[in-house]
Amino acid sequence: MDKSSMDFLLTLLNTPSPSGSEEDIQRKWLNYTKPFADEQRADGAGNAISIINPEGTLKIMLAGHCDEIGFLVKDIDAEGYIRVEKLGGISHKPALGMKVDILGEKEVVTGVFGVNAEHQGGTGDGFSFSDLFIDCGASNREEVAKLISIGDTAVYHRSPELLFGNKISGRGLDNRTGAFIAAETIKRLKQKTFPASVAAVSTVNEETNMGGAYYAGAAIQPDLAIVIDVTFAYDYPGSNRGGQPEVKLGGGPVLAVGPPVNKKAGLGIKETAEKQGINIQYELTPRQTGTDADKIRYTGSGITTVNVSLPSVICTLLLKQQASRI
Ligand SMILES: [Zn+2]
Repeated sequence: MDKSSMDFLLTLLNTPSPSGSEEDIQRKWLNYTKPFADEQRADGAGNAISIINPEGTLKIMLAGHCDEIGFLVKDIDAEGYIRVEKLGGISHKPALGMKVDILGEKEVVTGVFGVNAEHQGGTGDGFSFSDLFIDCGASNREEVAKLISIGDTAVYHRSPELLFGNKISGRGLDNRTGAFIAAETIKRLKQKTFPASVAAVSTVNEETNMGGAYYAGAAIQPDLAIVIDVTFAYDYPGSNRGGQPEVKLGGGPVLAVGPPVNKKAGLGIKETAEKQGINIQYELTPRQTGTDADKIRYTGSGITTVNVSLPSVICTLLLKQQASRI
């Protein structure tokens, strides 16, 4: 991966984008794709769209959601402690003692998640989400209210890091990496000549309601939608595949197979990968994919959709073998 691409990936990963607060990351995504996009727009739902060859005979859409799971401020008590609600399927297991960034209207406020201390008769290791509060250092509600309002979003304070030189660990790799791949793909395609129009879309709200994907699909009405997301790899201690085929970190992109995705289009991706010497892994999606693909395919008179994912272990992606083989 060249330096500008790597810098862009790190920019995305360093930009908080909890579902519903994607404006900042979308601005950066549109800025990066501007030099090679023939057409750009943002829609009312918050999607960012960059298109190459808009007059192309065949319309292809690449979609990766830019939002991440996080928290929503629900209460500030008289002493200035903040309580939050979950935004998407976030786990509170790592919260204890973890720093958290609250995206206030004027600035980002950093606080720390805590519970009533065990040695003072409070919560032990088995704490529940309702035991948690955030201390941002303010003395009372009035001080907090100058910077934070009910409904502000928050994310764990966590920067991306390279592990062992070739893996990347960080918050929200699901799915800023997908938005990244959509952008990088049109950047590379722009250097080639081909008859298709390709719209890269950084979608919003996937983690909470998939509304962004719905409106992107409905507006673009592509002949083929390729949805890029992350999925589980199973090569870690004690993992349970739950009947899924083996997926390894670094084993190649993961193609969804099952009713929600188009078999013929999936076969085309498989054959192309074989020609390029890229190993494909599979995940079974017998009902839903759990990605933007599930909404895009329901738009218009039905969109031919496929879903390709990066394997991820906990919060780690193998960088060189995956992201560089876009
Ligand atoms: Zn995702």
